[in-house]
Amino acid sequence: MNLYRIALVSIGNEVLSGDTLNTNAAWIGRRCAAIGALVAEQRTVPDERAAIIEAVSALRTRADLVVTTGGLGPTHDDVTVAALCELFGDKLVVHEPTLEYLERYAALRGREATERVRSQALVPSSAIVLPNTVGTAPGLLFRRSDGGDVLVLPGVPAEMRAIMEEHGLGWIARRIEEGGYDVFAERVLVTSGIPESDLADRLESLRTTLPPSVELAFLPAGGVVRLRLRASGRPDEVKETLEKVSEAFVSKLGEAVISTSNERLVEVLHRLCVTNGKTLAVAESCTGGMLGAEITSVPGSSAYFVGGLICYADAVKVHFGGVRPETLAIYGAVSQQTVEVLASYVRTAYSTDLSIAISGIAGPGGGTAEKPVGTVWIAVADADGVHARHYQFGTDRQTNRRRACDAAILMAIERLRST
Ligand code: ATP
Ligand code: MG
Repeated sequence: MNLYRIALVSIGNEVLSGDTLNTNAAWIGRRCAAIGALVAEQRTVPDERAAIIEAVSALRTRADLVVTTGGLGPTHDDVTVAALCELFGDKLVVHEPTLEYLERYAALRGREATERVRSQALVPSSAIVLPNTVGTAPGLLFRRSDGGDVLVLPGVPAEMRAIMEEHGLGWIARRIEEGGYDVFAERVLVTSGIPESDLADRLESLRTTLPPSVELAFLPAGGVVRLRLRASGRPDEVKETLEKVSEAFVSKLGEAVISTSNERLVEVLHRLCVTNGKTLAVAESCTGGMLGAEITSVPGSSAYFVGGLICYADAVKVHFGGVRPETLAIYGAVSQQTVEVLASYVRTAYSTDLSIAISGIAGPGGGTAEKPVGTVWIAVADADGVHARHYQFGTDRQTNRRRACDAAILMAIERLRST
């Protein structure tokens, strides 16, 4: 398979130390995959000239394109330009349009373009300059005949993304087309209700008869298992191959497939509520608004989500959630009885078709022998009644809160699909 191969070099001591999460690599990986280019390798190196030269030259021997991020700015620790100059035997020349841009950029902010700022208009003589419309240091592209090309980008994520979107990705897509490269395409099916190993058993016969150009990966997370199908080949054929294969998977798995387009769980909930004309309210105890935040992170959620009650304290569960003090005294706040009352109460109080209530012990404190940390009760109320379920998650507070939200959304999805 003759895919266009990209190698990524993330430059920065702060990335190595873990102070900065390498979101640039993740973003570039996803965006390149979307146009059929393969990120085949990545390396992270310190802000040191020799390390940058070593990484870029080694990767150029086996990649069509080396993309670097970081170390492009005007401070002493930004050594990427010097490293590439040395690697390609270039000298630094002034790039006039960048100099003018930097002066305008400074003037607009009521500042003087100092020597340090202006130094960012000094570029290696063989580089093509890719303007940075959101920051200062421009991107650089080295077209080479002696190995892979090199694309040099700033470390600041917004600047890196802008240069990739305005120049880099389009340029890579043209290289793929003009060079007659193969491409790959992906389809991700989201499945629910079947554990990963059972899913693997069920899919074994299908998997072993997949065409050799198609790969299957199991990606379990957040209470669901995503199946990533990746087909590579000629650009005009991959989509069709993928379509056929994913149809076979969907008919094999039936109802277990809740999305054929890699949606987040909350996007599935959103779609089902909107297409079925259902409204939703929530009552949250241990998640303290996290579920509402998640739901409203999807644009357009006002079409179905009306709001909710954050009933963290028992008094709020009683005064605003309809829970009787006796219920709390007998069964406790984390109980089937409590979440059932909360769910029915908010469904009526907020006049919605559907409601979700969550109550749990997120930890690290508050656990007992009977109800250890990680105990969570969730109820979903709809026209058919109230459906409650008990979950036993782990010991980490944030993970428990996260998993409670995922489980709650899944329960609501289940109800919406069963009616
Ligand atoms: P500047 O012009 O601002 O100096 P630069 O190209 O020199 O940009 P760096 O100095 O390496 O970039 O990094 C600037 C900021 O960008 C860092 O503080 C860091 O938070 C962020 N950053 C750098 N590399 C990455 C990365 N791989 N992923 C996410 N963020 C990054
Ligand atoms: Mg910098």
